[in-house]
Amino acid sequence: MSFLDKHIEDLKSAGVYRTLPVNEGPCEAVIKLDGREVINLTSNNYLGFANHPRLVAAAKKAIDTYGVGAGAVRTIVGNMDIHERLDDVIARFKREEAALVFQSGFACNAGVIQAITDKDDLIISDALNHASIIDGVRLSKAARAVYQHNDMADLERILKTKRDQYNHVLIITDGVFSMDGDIANLPDIVRLAKQYDALTYVDDAHGSGVLGESGRGTVDHFHLHGQVDVIVGTLSKAIGVVGGYVAGSKTMRDWLLHRGRPLLFSTAMMPAAAAAIIEAFEMLSTTTAHTDKLWENARYFQGRLKTLGFDLGVTQTPITPIIIGDETKTMAFSKRLLEHGVFVSGIVFPTVPAGKARIRCMVSALHARAHLDKAIAVIETTAKDMNLI
Ligand SMILES: *Cc1c(COP(=O)(O)O)cnc(C)c1O
Repeated sequence: MSFLDKHIEDLKSAGVYRTLPVNEGPCEAVIKLDGREVINLTSNNYLGFANHPRLVAAAKKAIDTYGVGAGAVRTIVGNMDIHERLDDVIARFKREEAALVFQSGFACNAGVIQAITDKDDLIISDALNHASIIDGVRLSKAARAVYQHNDMADLERILKTKRDQYNHVLIITDGVFSMDGDIANLPDIVRLAKQYDALTYVDDAHGSGVLGESGRGTVDHFHLHGQVDVIVGTLSKAIGVVGGYVAGSKTMRDWLLHRGRPLLFSTAMMPAAAAAIIEAFEMLSTTTAHTDKLWENARYFQGRLKTLGFDLGVTQTPITPIIIGDETKTMAFSKRLLEHGVFVSGIVFPTVPAGKARIRCMVSALHARAHLDKAIAVIETTAKDMNLI
């Protein structure tokens, strides 16, 4: 493997080489990272469910009932009643006809896109779609086109020039874009899809548990129930556990039980995970307190950073990028923040375009006002020291 040494040297000389931080306890507002207590502004644990006592209790109880493993893929004998119940709970929460759980959001995109498209079809994908969508599209036999990020004129240009040459056309977008925090223009995407007879596919990984009534997602946020053909979500972010799901028609679910390859060839989700997730949806169904707290914290944090003169880009969600531009400076900024007890990851090319490096702060419902105030103070003094503001 020594041919990789040169690539690793390149990363080091570009200042973007990293080692993995080690969290020695649960994912909380304050974590013990590599032996030191730091404020955690990095996780996707938006609602604080990853270590919530109700989810933990549900998982423990399920271990006593089901053990720790499902024992096989869902299509053989790994399909436990708790998996079926979870599918139903998600369908009801999302207000869709049916839902089907996969082992992760990544597995969902890897399986669903190829299963519902064929060689005579065209997939049209937003330029900033998540890596798992890009890989999912690569697994499909369909032709591909990419439209400029959230640019409806460009999407329409592709539909206008290419629609007639294909059987089905599938438009795929993230619901919320994870690096900038902006929301897809779903109403116009749905309108164009109707006009040009295309199907729509929304990956709502960062919208589920965040946007819409009690976190019902981007489709609910725009009141588009019944108008998006495929809704994908993750159970690994706001829901706090692990897994992914697709929600939509019963027909689609039925087909995916036969052609969703991660479902056919990878073991079913741990039953305790399913139990914890069911508890999470139960909590979201009975109160909006969790999502309310998340948004209250996000508004406070972003408002203070804007007042200090930081460039937060185009975010419309709790995802809070602080755009620095220069990659080396960004990594140095992130490192200095950590030295002062605030953990925020630096994000550089190729995850974001070159010259658009940023630190990305992830606010959650777990943060107390004091955590946010301390983080803001450290971000301010460090940025001033480095002449970033
Ligand atoms: C995080 C993410 C995924 C992957 O979800 P996992 O459950 O962590 O595999 C898929 N799509 C998008 C848009 C994401 O942000």
